[in-house]
Amino acid sequence: VRAKGQAYFDKEDRPLRFIGSVLEITEQKEDELRKNDFIGMVSHELKTPLTSLTAIIQVAKEKLKNNTDPFIAGAMEKANVQVKRMGNMINGFLNISRLESAKLLLDKQRFDLETLIEDLVQETRLTVTSHTINFERCDHVFIVADRDKIGSVVTNLISNAVKYSPKGRTVDVECKAEGDKIRVSITDQGMGLKPQDKERVFDRYFRVENNSSKNISGFGIGLYLSAEIIRGHNGHIGVESESENGSTFYFTLPVAV
Ligand code: ADP
Repeated sequence: VRAKGQAYFDKEDRPLRFIGSVLEITEQKEDELRKNDFIGMVSHELKTPLTSLTAIIQVAKEKLKNNTDPFIAGAMEKANVQVKRMGNMINGFLNISRLESAKLLLDKQRFDLETLIEDLVQETRLTVTSHTINFERCDHVFIVADRDKIGSVVTNLISNAVKYSPKGRTVDVECKAEGDKIRVSITDQGMGLKPQDKERVFDRYFRVENNSSKNISGFGIGLYLSAEIIRGHNGHIGVESESENGSTFYFTLPVAV
C-alpha cells in the first residue's frame, strides 16, 4: 500500500481509518477502465472499414486471377496478408478490452498445429524478406484449441523475433512433441533480454526501454495477450534469453488424445 493520505486515530491512539491509498487505487482503476473502454471503442470502429477492405481485396483477387502481370498477383497477395495482420492487431485490442470485464472466450476445435504453423511461416515469408525464417517440423500434432487465437500467438512471436533482431539474421521456428505436450519455440538472433526484463515481458503494456529498442514501435500488449491465451488453454509460455544474445520464446500445449 502506498502511504499517501491521512491516517485518523481515536483518543487512545488506536488507528481508526486511513484515507488516501484507497482513493489512489480507485483513481488508477478508473483510469484503466477509461483507457480500456477507449481501446475497445476504437478497435470496434476500425473493424468496419477493415471488413470492407478485406472484401474488396477478395473481389479484386478474383477478378484479376487471369492477369499475367506478376506484380499485380504479388501486390494482391501482400495486400491480403497486411489486411489480415491489421485484423489480428484489432482483434488483439478487442480481446484486451474484453479481458478486463470477462474471461477470454475460446472457440475450441481439433486441428493440426503443425499445418497451422507451416501456413503462418509461409505467410510471413511473403512479407518479411529481411530475415531467413526456418521451420522445423513436428509430424502433424493435433490439439483441441482456439485455432485463430493460437495462430495469433505464433504470428506475434515470429513478428517479435523479426522486429527485435537485426536484418539478415535467422529466425528458427521449431515444433517438438514432448510426451503428452507439444512445445513450439521461436528463436531469434537479436538483442535478447536482461534478467530483470525477462520477468516482465509478459506484463501488460510493458516494453523494454534501451538504445536498441527505442526506435521500434509497439504497444506492449502482444506478449501479455499471448500469455493469457496460452494459460487459457492450460499451457505454459516462457522465454529463455541472454542480453545481446538472442531469445527463445516458447509455449507448450497439451496434445489432443
Ligand atoms: P510490443 O512489441 O508491441 O512492444 P510485446 O508485448 O509483443 O509488445 O513485447 C513486449 C516487449 O518485450 C517489447 O517491447 C520488447 O521490449 C520485448 N520483446 C518482445 N519480443 C522480443 C524479442 N524477440 N527479443 C527481445 N525483446 C523482445
